[in-house]
Amino acid sequence: SIEKLSDLEKLAVLGHGSSGIVYKVRHRRNLQIYALKVVRFEQDNIAAGIRRQADLEADILKQVNSQFIVRCYGVFDSCTEYSEASDLCFLMEYMEGGSLQDLLKIRRRLPEAAISDMARRVLEGLKYLHEMHIVHRDIKPSNLLINRKGEVKIADFGVSCRDGCCDFSCAGTCAYMSPERFDPERWNISGTISDGFAGDIWALGVALLECHAGHFPLIPADQKLDWATLMCAICFCDAPEMPSTASAEFRSFIYQCLEKDWRRRGSVGELLSHPFVAKNKSSSTEQLIDEFL
Ligand code: ADP
Ligand code: MG
Repeated sequence: SIEKLSDLEKLAVLGHGSSGIVYKVRHRRNLQIYALKVVRFEQDNIAAGIRRQADLEADILKQVNSQFIVRCYGVFDSCTEYSEASDLCFLMEYMEGGSLQDLLKIRRRLPEAAISDMARRVLEGLKYLHEMHIVHRDIKPSNLLINRKGEVKIADFGVSCRDGCCDFSCAGTCAYMSPERFDPERWNISGTISDGFAGDIWALGVALLECHAGHFPLIPADQKLDWATLMCAICFCDAPEMPSTASAEFRSFIYQCLEKDWRRRGSVGELLSHPFVAKNKSSSTEQLIDEFL
């Protein structure tokens, strides 16, 4: 086990997110490779909020133990080696393939078999989280990571909530937000846990459709992604027409994820037994990763 951060040697930057920097690191003695996410806090009010959310992220990561979720081996407070400010560091399983967003930048579109395999894995991860009363709230391509074996796992609990404490703020990226999160009626009340779960399903539907369409799927490829256009597309427009190249099963699956009324949207259980995921048991992303890495 890793006792101190000075045991780790920084090799490269893997990614920048909203909350911090993720480094590729190597253990000085056993030479194991890990990912280290560093969330930094300055001394002000905003930092206090970030700190609270990062502490929750740490609590969640320490609690979860699933092959469908990126593993966290330890949380370290304030690592002086990387900065002088107060930091919270998450030592995580290294995902060699990077994020689904990275993969989409290179491949643009993925074959249906790979999307189906991805859907199954993310749904298994969400099932696990939802059973623990955790809503992820930020499912999107940059938070779905891929390892050398082509396995997709859920990462980044930076805006997650637990035990029904969800607020309806625009935490995370608004592009993958579900219609109910735009509903002004709910802005002043705390959401219930059940509509929170449905928001994760919506976001998964958008991400999977993006893998098929080759661009953010809710607005035309050439249109600018501004707030008003986005909100209209999410709340009022019909789900995008899927091309006839998509199988009937895939289309039906996506429409169940992108049902605007969260009460009628597919649940994790229903979607796991949907033929689009249930019929495909092979790891079809493996081949993609071989070409990609
Ligand atoms: P943020 O909360 O700042 O968005 P993330 O946890 O999503 O932070 O990480 C940001 C990016 O860093 C990811 O999109 C991914 O590209 C990269 N990354 C994060 N964790 C890992 C990991 N375990 N292995 C490989 N790359 C990672
Ligand atoms: Mg992220």
